[in-house]
Amino acid sequence: MVTNNLLVIVVLESGCRIQESSDRIASMKRMLSLLVPLVLFLGCETVKNVHRDQSVLSKNLADNTVTSIPDRVVVLTFDDGNISDLTTAAPILKGHGFGATFYITSGWVGKPGRLNWEQVKELNDQGFEIGNHSASHPNMLHISEDDIREQIISFDEACAEHGIPKATSFAYPGGHHDRRMVKALAAEGYLTARRAVSPEYPLYDRGGPGPLYNPSEDDPFLIPGAYVRGNLSPSDQEFEEVLSGARDGSICVLIYHGVPDVHHHCSTSVDLFTKDMQHLKDNDFTVISVQDLSKYIDVTKRLKDIYEPLLARLGISPNALKCDALGDSPVFSWEIKTTRPQGQSAYQILVASSEKNLDSNEGDLWNSGKVVSNQSSEIPYAGKSLTQVERLHWKVRCWNDPDEAEIKRVSRWSAKEILEEMGKIRVSDYSSVASFIGK
Ligand SMILES: [Zn+2]
Repeated sequence: MVTNNLLVIVVLESGCRIQESSDRIASMKRMLSLLVPLVLFLGCETVKNVHRDQSVLSKNLADNTVTSIPDRVVVLTFDDGNISDLTTAAPILKGHGFGATFYITSGWVGKPGRLNWEQVKELNDQGFEIGNHSASHPNMLHISEDDIREQIISFDEACAEHGIPKATSFAYPGGHHDRRMVKALAAEGYLTARRAVSPEYPLYDRGGPGPLYNPSEDDPFLIPGAYVRGNLSPSDQEFEEVLSGARDGSICVLIYHGVPDVHHHCSTSVDLFTKDMQHLKDNDFTVISVQDLSKYIDVTKRLKDIYEPLLARLGISPNALKCDALGDSPVFSWEIKTTRPQGQSAYQILVASSEKNLDSNEGDLWNSGKVVSNQSSEIPYAGKSLTQVERLHWKVRCWNDPDEAEIKRVSRWSAKEILEEMGKIRVSDYSSVASFIGK
């Protein structure tokens, strides 16, 4: 059995390097001609073994994964159907062997700077996925259920008319989504939908970072964009940071518009785009379309409440715990982690003589109770005497303070339900345990 596995590895390795030089190609061909019949003969059992291994791994992941998700998976998406999708982006993607999904707004096809139907078809024929980005790109929060359906199906009809296969993926215009849209998409046979970065991150015209897509939590109808990239969001540091999140079952979904775009605010220069794609290539990312996700995820599996995980992320969390125990009494500090504008409204500190006590949320030395305060640094210890204790353990949890101005700002762009949830005060989980030496 070990021998079989080895044979497969040799062949795959040879395949990867086969472009290196013509001399090597000749010798690899000779080697392959000897090995291929052997692999074909032995391979079936080997492949079964590999799958078996992967299914063991995937038991640790959620129900909707069909196999383990490798690290460094990037999904590339392009919105609005600019002519540059075909003339600039596609050739660069082809050169790197990357997949991508182009979300087209059917009512914009043929307009100045946009693709015409022959060009959309050409993208499809080149092997790229064509996705539905509505008929006229309205803010769909503000239209009726009938009109939502109309926006979806008139795109489908236009594709059918031009010989383009029915789309299975949708991108919410402007990134605005609600339950009515999800319901309509499911009814029309859609499997996936990509939103943008909100509500976990603030939605800005200039783009910017968002959450990674974690298929064990996020429903395939609410796939988030990890970065809305463009000339107004050109930070290499942010870009590399979101890419570094593509591991441990999380996938990085990138959103581009035209290269360049009809509109200035979401345009990406050819230089920036070329540099981004080269970065993905140089760092061995697997770059795929939304449709290709089905290699790793069962996109037909639905969460019971698809909005629940997303809404649960709206709070804050304490991290980077610090304790200064040099003075008469220890003082505690932490940092607030939040991805959208908001602060802290209250905290609770537990201090215990053992980690075991803290595990059961027992602050046997000090339990501050809920303290209404936005203070998160230099909070003095106010518990039992510490003279007899050597090592102490502590943790903290925090309540958020929703930013009313931010909620007002996004009120036209977020569903009523999401706005209500954004306005709620939530308590975080307790931080991980930190310890310090007592006196
Ligand atoms: Zn759009």
